[in-house]
Amino acid sequence: IITVSNLKKSYGDLEVLKGINFNVDKNDVVAIIGPSGSGKSTMLRSLIHLEEINDGTISIDGQELVKNGVYAKAHDLKQITSKMGMVFQHFNLFPHLTVKENLEIAPKMAKKEAIKVIQQRSEELLHKVGLTSWAKSYPAKLSGGQKQRVAIARALMMDPEILLFDEPTSALDPELTGEVLQVMKDLAQEKMTMIVVTHEMGFAKEVATKAIFMDNGEIVESGEPGALFTNPQFDRTKAFLQRSL
Ligand code: ATP
Ligand code: MG
Repeated sequence: IITVSNLKKSYGDLEVLKGINFNVDKNDVVAIIGPSGSGKSTMLRSLIHLEEINDGTISIDGQELVKNGVYAKAHDLKQITSKMGMVFQHFNLFPHLTVKENLEIAPKMAKKEAIKVIQQRSEELLHKVGLTSWAKSYPAKLSGGQKQRVAIARALMMDPEILLFDEPTSALDPELTGEVLQVMKDLAQEKMTMIVVTHEMGFAKEVATKAIFMDNGEIVESGEPGALFTNPQFDRTKAFLQRSL
């Protein structure tokens, strides 16, 4: 469902992605691991066009977002990126909107559906993440784990084919990570296609169908998570896993 080839991205003189290649199949849960500064976030943000790449091809669900460094037309870009939802480390909720309004704002702005349909879906999704009773609260009243569950529900409102997560539990107190990981596990069980940048090795091992280890702007190694974790082929992967497990 996603094909990335020869993705290159620099900030000034600093090349942070050095020709990345990978595929994601439908229903895959891909865990991306790697040290700080290795380019994980930049890679994820490039997929949804929050970063412009310098070269390479990204194709989403058969459509080219960017081909050999040349981006699709604005209208097509919007349509292609709308197939993906993203969840950030710091939630990025709208503080002046209630939980329910946070879910409903994007579909309401898109004006493609009746308000009633949107409201019904937001209620279903709040139920799904266990936050029905918080619908009218403002984000400031919520715990980090609750905020992140709102962010996941909000991403689901646009009915994405693919969900991208950038360290969704890294800003949480340890006792709150479980509730967020559980929602993500449920989504995996429902066969949602997901790409998850994470330091949660347990989640990666247990839930992911594919793991990718990045270091210094490159994919060093990728494969079935069990194999990658127990039998890494490269010294850089071994060293990273030893530090992380
Ligand atoms: P972390 O685990 O800390 O989140 P990461 O793997 O997500 O790290 P990136 O955030 O993708 O890494 O950053 C890759 C490199 O690009 C780093 O050296 C970072 O300093 C640099 N970088 C990221 N964003 C920018 C920017 N907007 N301007 C300049 N340099 C940037
Ligand atoms: Mg990052």
